[in-house]
This record gives sequence, C-alpha cells and structure tokens, in this order.
Amino acid sequence: MDYLMHIPTPLLFEHYRLKDLLDIYQRHTGETPSGIVFDVFSAAGPNFASKLYPRTDHADACLHLRQLADFCGKQSLGLWLCFNPSMPFAASNATHIIDSRGDSSRQCCINAPGTQELIELLAKELRTVITEGCAGLVLPCQDLWPMGARANMIEITCFCPYCVRFYLDRGLARMKEFGFYPSPLNLALKDTGTGIDHIHALNSSITAEELIEHSRAERMLAAEYLEDLRPYQTPTESAQWGRLRDMAEQLLRFVRARHELTVKSLETIAASLKNIFESCTLACLVEGSDYDWTAGFFLDQFVTCDWFDALWLPPSASVAFASRRELSNSYSKQLGLYCVQRSWYVVGEFASHLEAGHAAFRHATLAAEREHEAIRQTHRIGKMLASFVMADPGDYRALCVEPDSINSVVTPVFFQETINKLLESIPVPKSEVEELAEALRQQMG
Ligand SMILES: [Zn+2]
Repeated sequence: MDYLMHIPTPLLFEHYRLKDLLDIYQRHTGETPSGIVFDVFSAAGPNFASKLYPRTDHADACLHLRQLADFCGKQSLGLWLCFNPSMPFAASNATHIIDSRGDSSRQCCINAPGTQELIELLAKELRTVITEGCAGLVLPCQDLWPMGARANMIEITCFCPYCVRFYLDRGLARMKEFGFYPSPLNLALKDTGTGIDHIHALNSSITAEELIEHSRAERMLAAEYLEDLRPYQTPTESAQWGRLRDMAEQLLRFVRARHELTVKSLETIAASLKNIFESCTLACLVEGSDYDWTAGFFLDQFVTCDWFDALWLPPSASVAFASRRELSNSYSKQLGLYCVQRSWYVVGEFASHLEAGHAAFRHATLAAEREHEAIRQTHRIGKMLASFVMADPGDYRALCVEPDSINSVVTPVFFQETINKLLESIPVPKSEVEELAEALRQQMG
C-alpha cells in the first residue's frame, strides 16, 4: 500500500524542513510515505513563482516548491500536485461564484470559462517549474459550491451568468424561485441557525414522491405543508400535494442539471491539466456521501466517469465505506483513502487565516496597528478552536482499516506539534498563545 503525506500549506516550511515533516509522519503513523501531496494554490495565491499572480506575502513561496521537487527527486518520493479550483486569489468578477440572492464570493466558479482558463495558464506556468518528477495530479472535488442561509432562505451557488445560462438551456426556467422562501430548496435543506441541515436520502434515483416523504420525515418543508393531514389521509390527498410535487420535481431537475454541470466542468479542468502534465495520474478527491450539496454531484454516477485515474475517499464516508469493496471490484481505478474529511477544512481555514494574518502583520508599521492586528489574530485562532470542538477527533487521526480494498492512504501533516509550532508563530501575547495551545491539546486528547 502507498502512503502519501499531504502538505496543506508552504507555511509549514517556515518551521520545518521536509525531512522533519517526514520524521513526524513516521513517528505518528508508523509508515514511510512514498510521496508528497502539495497544494499548488493557497488562499493568497499560487505557491510557486507565477508571473500572473506574483506573491508579495511569500516572496520565497516559489523556492519551496522548487526545493520540494528537488528533494523528492533525490529521495525517490513521488510529488503529487494538488490543484484546488476555488482559487480565492483570483480577484475577477468574471470568475466569481454568485449565490441565489446575487451576492458574490471570492471563490471561483468552476463552470466560468475564465476559471478554466486561469487554471490552465497557471498549470502551464507551473510546468516550467516542475519540469520532471511529477507523480500525479490531485483535483479536489469538494466545496465547489458553497452555501449559506438567512432566515430560512437557503442561499446556494452558483448563479453566475454562465451557470444560469446552463440551467436555462436545460429547461430550468424558474430558477428565480430558488431565491425566495419557501423555495424547492427548503424541501431538502433547512436553516438551523448555526448551519444548514439536509435530508439524508438524496441520491441519483430518488423520485419526487420519495423526496417529499423524506422531507416530511426529516421535518423539512413537506412536514409543514402536510401538517393538517388527517391520520386516514395519504399525502396525495392533501390540498398542498400539487404544489409540493411541483417543487420536488423542480428540485430534482435542478440537482440533476447541477450534477451534469459540475462533472462537465471538472472534466474540462482535468483534461487541460492532464494535457499539460502528460502521462500523470489524476486523482479526484471526493466527499463520501451519495450527494453532497457543496460538491454538487451524485457519487455513484461520478465514479463511472472515465476521465480520472484514481478516487480518494474519506475513511469515515458511510456510503463509500459500504460500497467500497464493491467499488474496487467493479471498478478498475485505483482507490485511495483520504484521511482528512472535516479536519481538512479546519487545516485549510487555519492556514488561510494565518497567511492573511502574517501578511497584514508585516504591513502594520505603527505599534497601535500591530496591537490591533494581534487582537484580530487571537480572534481568528479562537474561531479555529471552535471548529476543532465541532470536529470529530476520529477524523483527524483515522488511518485506514480494511487495507485489502484500497491502494493508497493519504494523510495530512496535521499533528499536535505542527499546530504548536504554528501557534508559536502568531504575534500575540505569549500567555494567550499558551492558553490556545492548551485548549487545543485537550481537544485533541
Ligand atoms: Zn457559476
């Protein structure tokens, strides 16, 4: 079995040499990684020398990747390049995601031609840095479509002109209704005040009637509409049935069209990456549920695509777990476990906050500004700790089980001592850092 170590941010190289990271990995997992997964983009920009997006915050970011490639070459470690298509550094209206209320996000829409073009241009630039020794490419297919909620109104993405055009072409003429309450979205999604709950039965073969049934059972909109139903009546006898059915059908048409849009966009991106890094294996990083709202595709249909070579699944994925053996039998592609899930989100957030903090702190010249920045950073880290409290500790320490049904295991560099080092680098009063580190230690057991 192959073990890969994921380096989520080049910030780690400000505290460690790669050799140290490999030692830490070995100490914690008992395994020797055969390769490294490196994120070529971070929130602040590309992690390599780019003329398109020159980094001012990490002048030496490009050096890391070059050194990393050299080191990997010498140590016979495979270098996997991870291209997260959300690229929040691309400050362009032509690529941004727009939600159902018309608000835009810094994240790029994978369906926008500008996004696809930008990934291609950056990959071409990167190809000049990594001229050889690239073992594979990783395409994260998660969190592509962020969403939010306000007063029961679910704000999903993306409603940019390119996505709206796609949906109109698929006959979805009533997309505007998704921006109101109640909308078809409320059948399957619910604003809980602290997040968004969803029905758990959404899969590629669900019917409108089944959707209504689950919506009712899981206390979503259908439960409200069918409240007055008498015990001797069936839902179809309700005065609201026609309206509910119409909404359920609209919703299903939408999620199916969105599946098509997502897969088509990912395929386009994957094709250009494989074209630039010819003969490289391409692995897709996916969520493990039948349908994930922020991923936007049905997993059972996604796995049948022929444009990627490997699929990396989270180990705690219930559906994927159940069908993994079946998957690996019926499906000739490599199957890997991506041991991060929730913690990946935490690491990503943690790293991007830290990067933003570092950049702001460097530019703060006055003592008062520095103090202000220190307070802001403390708040950021406080928020991150709150995320840890919500995370399932099993997620970030999980290693593979059932080793016979998988080919590889990918684990992030995300251990107590790493976090301690990162915390040490935060320019806040020492006592507060110690307090945060202690809270974190307790949380991680
Ligand atoms: Zn879009």
